[in-house]
Amino acid sequence: MEFFDRAETWDRAVIEAAQVVRLRNTVEQAGRCAFYAERFAEAKVTAADIRTPDDIRRIPFTTKDDLRSQYPEGLLCVPRDEIVRMHSSSGTTGTPVAICHTRNDLNSWADLMARSMYMAGVRRSDVFQNMSGYGLFTGGLGIHAGAERLGCMTIPAGAGNTLRQIKLVKDFRTTVIHIIPSYALVLANTLRENGEDPSALPLRIALIGAEPHSKETRQRVEEALGVTAYNSFGLSEMNGPGVAFECQEQNGLHVWEDAYLVEIIDPDTGEYVAEGELGELVLSTLCRVGMPILRYRTRDLTRFLPGNCACGRMHRRIDRIQGRTDDMFIIKGVNIYPMQIEHVIMGRPEVGQNYLIVLENEGPKEDIKIKVEIRDEYFVEDMRALQGLQQKIARRLQSEILVTPKVELVQPNSLPTSEGKATRVLDLREK
Ligand code: AMP
Ligand code: ZN
Repeated sequence: MEFFDRAETWDRAVIEAAQVVRLRNTVEQAGRCAFYAERFAEAKVTAADIRTPDDIRRIPFTTKDDLRSQYPEGLLCVPRDEIVRMHSSSGTTGTPVAICHTRNDLNSWADLMARSMYMAGVRRSDVFQNMSGYGLFTGGLGIHAGAERLGCMTIPAGAGNTLRQIKLVKDFRTTVIHIIPSYALVLANTLRENGEDPSALPLRIALIGAEPHSKETRQRVEEALGVTAYNSFGLSEMNGPGVAFECQEQNGLHVWEDAYLVEIIDPDTGEYVAEGELGELVLSTLCRVGMPILRYRTRDLTRFLPGNCACGRMHRRIDRIQGRTDDMFIIKGVNIYPMQIEHVIMGRPEVGQNYLIVLENEGPKEDIKIKVEIRDEYFVEDMRALQGLQQKIARRLQSEILVTPKVELVQPNSLPTSEGKATRVLDLREK
């Protein structure tokens, strides 16, 4: 087994020993801003109280609203002239969240990103094309820095302009891409429409992340682009990509526990869930100096995977993200996550590359309508076949989400697409 970084070979005892030292330093460092200094004083906790990783439980949670309340620079823990970059979270409503990095913060982020890519099989001989948006979004510059650190020839293509992407892939013999999964399906459609044979392209690996996606979607990306696709998880509050990543086993994402302390809690009680149960991911930075964040409630839902990974790394694995606590919607009294729907739809061969969940109401009567793109070859089928398909999909969905949705089959490429994170739910209900 090849490793990029010594920390990948650490056993649990070494990981935990490093966590204690780093957590203590982080508490010390975070206490340099008024927000955390007050929090620690209220909780009567100091750096010296941290003796085991479990002592993190003495520290209060940090929420998105806390970060918003400190926008733009309330959480700075170094003099301002030590900051060399800021990034911001993609939330579209309300006050944004800004994260500021020192030179060392950026260096350790690039190291984590390079380590993640190496773990997925990327080597310096690869040509890497970053098909995600640059700018404030961390999937641009964050992954870019990792690829350069690894030594890949790096093409900052950015998102969109799909025909140009394909030209770049061919002209520069791109072997590895980073792409948001919903945009990967748009790329797949364009390849198909242009009669391109994906197996004739030089691509071999896709790093996909930044939004929830089902394993069925991953499989589609792999088949349509002729690649092996690895799940990349991260969030701006914890730098961005490079927090947790799949290894070549493709069975869960290793969290880099030398850089992040990971907990999973019941979102209602704040207590730890039982081992292996689904809960809200809570993360703390262990190496960040510019803006350390402790016990951040991500709202992302996942579980720890049991046992050791065959790759040999002892960094614990989390399951793919099942959704976000704020993604959930309630229809006819039933709680539903978009991923439950995606899992059913993307598993069907007749279905094309896009779908949209529409919530509507007429007075007190609520409806869930699912618009599903159907592949060209099925659209020419007769009415009866289409109706049969519609019913089949509705029945499968009903058994998954427990309410009967209206299913509307639509033509390929008729639903809105996005180069950034996809919007899967359109809530038209009058409140
Ligand atoms: P942002 O900081 O704006 O890039 O958004 C981060 C959020 O994107 C995370 O909290 C997750 O909800 C989502 N996200 C990022 N990567 C993944 C992934 N691999 N799978 C599912 N959701 C993801
Ligand atoms: Zn592994």
